[in-house]
Amino acid sequence: LDRIEKLDRKLAELGVRIKDEDSRKVTDEVFDETTLLALYKLVNKKVITSLGGSISTGKEANVFSAGKTNEDGKEIGAAVKIYRLRTGNFTTMSDYILGDPRFSNIRRTHKDIIFAWTKKEYSNLSRTREAGLPCPEPYAFDRNILIMQFLGEGIIPYPQMRQLLPKTPEETYEEALGLIRDLYQKARLIHGDLSEYNILTGPNGLILIDMAQAVTPEHPKAYNFLFRDIKNINRFFASKCKTTDEHELFRSIVGE
Ligand code: ADP
Ligand code: MN
Repeated sequence: LDRIEKLDRKLAELGVRIKDEDSRKVTDEVFDETTLLALYKLVNKKVITSLGGSISTGKEANVFSAGKTNEDGKEIGAAVKIYRLRTGNFTTMSDYILGDPRFSNIRRTHKDIIFAWTKKEYSNLSRTREAGLPCPEPYAFDRNILIMQFLGEGIIPYPQMRQLLPKTPEETYEEALGLIRDLYQKARLIHGDLSEYNILTGPNGLILIDMAQAVTPEHPKAYNFLFRDIKNINRFFASKCKTTDEHELFRSIVGE
């Protein structure tokens, strides 16, 4: 049996449906042997009960929908984010990881950095939730796989902020700035890749996602990242409503 056939069989056993437009190359890159083994473990431990279709194919990771049994024995949705072990963005990942005092003493091999990256997203999501801020609840992680709450209605994920604003532009702008401020002041985190793509519009307002790169204020580039996050939000809202000067916003958030 060749490798591709074996992979197909194993994926079918897991209930994975690869959509036609997903190229074989992507499938092969995402579901290498290490990842398949980790997925099997997660299914065996009943962290997830099924794996569904592809939600997103990004530069570094793929997101799939999945099923999960909650504490009451009810079937609920989950999202499975799989970081590709053969990612093109490795140097950037290393910079973020090694500058973060929480993750500075890990081994520097390719796999270790990506596993640390996955764990870092899990930690950042927990920390954001503990501060009472909206983001997916992280359920588990193993190696390069993160399992989290599915944010959506039925099987449809909530739209990104670029596609839909929950309120008027002015109100949504204030809400987005409030999230940057609360993330910094309450969770002591800076998102680091904030944009209209990494904020979803849920029924109760904006929700932060994609937090692997988020850093604490001790990171040597923390302020650069914070300033860039503010600038991205201002850029998105500039055509929609009146925006506040980014230096002024920066000062009010860091309290200087
Ligand atoms: P990437 O690093 O590829 O940008 P993201 O974490 O931003 O990964 O996820 C990519 C897309 O997948 C998001 O823009 C969103 O549409 C969808 N997505 C991510 N996490 C979830 C989730 N927990 N529930 C529903 N959809 C999600
Ligand atoms: Mn993203």
